[in-house]
Amino acid sequence: MTLHAWQEKAAAVRPDGRPFIDGQRVDALTDAQFDVLNPQSGARLASLPDCGQADVDRAVASARKAFDSGVWAMRAPYERSQVLRRFGQLALKHGEELGLLETLQMGSPIGVSVPLMDGTDEILRECANQADKLHDIAALSAPTALALNVRRPHGVVAAITPWNVPVHTALMKVAPALAMGNSVVLKPSELAPLACLRLADLAIEAGVPPGVFNALPGLGANTGRALALHHDVDCLAFTGSTATGLMLMQYAGQSNMKSLLLECGGKSPHLVFDDVGDIDSLADELVQGFTWNSGQVCNAGTRILVAESLYDRLMPLLTARVDALAIGNPLDPATLLGPLASTAQFSRVTSLLAQARSTDQLVARSKALGGSPNAMAPQLFASSDPHSPLMQEELFGPIACVTQFADEAEAVALANNSRYGLAATVWSRDFTQAHRVVRALRAGFVVSNAVAKPKPALCYYMGGEPVGMSGFGADGGSSGLLAYTRLRLNLFHLG
Ligand code: NAD
Repeated sequence: MTLHAWQEKAAAVRPDGRPFIDGQRVDALTDAQFDVLNPQSGARLASLPDCGQADVDRAVASARKAFDSGVWAMRAPYERSQVLRRFGQLALKHGEELGLLETLQMGSPIGVSVPLMDGTDEILRECANQADKLHDIAALSAPTALALNVRRPHGVVAAITPWNVPVHTALMKVAPALAMGNSVVLKPSELAPLACLRLADLAIEAGVPPGVFNALPGLGANTGRALALHHDVDCLAFTGSTATGLMLMQYAGQSNMKSLLLECGGKSPHLVFDDVGDIDSLADELVQGFTWNSGQVCNAGTRILVAESLYDRLMPLLTARVDALAIGNPLDPATLLGPLASTAQFSRVTSLLAQARSTDQLVARSKALGGSPNAMAPQLFASSDPHSPLMQEELFGPIACVTQFADEAEAVALANNSRYGLAATVWSRDFTQAHRVVRALRAGFVVSNAVAKPKPALCYYMGGEPVGMSGFGADGGSSGLLAYTRLRLNLFHLG
């Protein structure tokens, strides 16, 4: 499809921004509103209700009623899986619509956001596939006793999610929560709520019973806070910044000690040893690792740690690639990188960049920035002080620092010198070394010899759990599904 064809489709979009409660779109009880803006043009896409306490109460009550009725929670896991598979198929069928909404509301290129929607089906299908194959445990016991460890859903799960890959990050919470029998109230980011609200329509169409999946538009400090403080929410599943994650821990403590699953920020290292082989494709992967989605990725490889003996050969390859990158109109199918998702995000990254020190030397900066005021140039710094703000803070833009290391011990020490512990990547052909280094890293998602591409299925085969101020709680795989349950002991004394 051409740019013109996408522009015509975009002009015809009439998004429904109403809350989804008890199986249908409803008018909000609040009069307060917020605007969703197109970051490329600044144009207003829609005005949505900023759901307040009354709407939150309504959605949580609907979720509670549905949970207590057993209409979903007591259904056989196999039957729930069948519904989730249908949900995945519907999300796939509506991939173009969902992808276009993502492009319009957060600026990801159409050539990326539409194909990425294949992953919606993958997340739902993987959860469906695993959900009916998990096991409770029966202890070895005398004939007169039966001791069981069983898993039960939490109850009402509130999912609060970010804007960077909105549908995927929402489904990474919603899919396992539903698969395990919970009822869900989703609050997507106020920057990009439109496609996520559509998910609720599709879930009902797939056969998820009314009340089991509700979705509320609203601001974090209003709708999100009300959900996090709610006494009838049993579990809060969050993806977003570390600052908000810390607040949610307080809200849980101020209310009902709800369970928390927190997937927060990152400052993920790549450790590049000098035996990696093909350094041209390595350079491609490293640059993609911090520029994909204009760097707005939680596990972006923003600290590139390179063996001294390789540094002089690798740097020209990295700088040439960064210099050549271009930001374009997100509706143009030829565009690979769009603007940042909002003016606020642009200002945030700009002010963090202003904290660069003399030890952070700018070595590459792309110049083709297109026409958006939110276009952020991909940039590469050579940094010699691991304590500088550029090496420590999550920028969430297309910017990385390169630092040299002398030996394996220094590489590991540099990599672990972070308050975050989300992801890490090790580049080495020496499997013994790679295995040793991977074990020494403080991170939940560690990959060797490939950038962890945003391929949801990869995440869903096996899970991980963030470390440090990247959060806690398993995400992905069967462990990720079990995170949406509680362990219970059932002990029977028999005749
Ligand atoms: P954010 O913390 O600003 O917002 C995330 C969500 O929290 C939004 O829905 C927002 O409305 C809500 N929120 C904000 N304040 C709140 C409050 N006081 N109470 C309740 N809810 C509140 O994060 P963001 O800017 O939307 O997303 C970017 C961040 O997300 C980055 O730090 C990134 O690393 C992180 N992220 C992490 C992962 C992961 O898997 N670890 C994945 C994607 C993004």
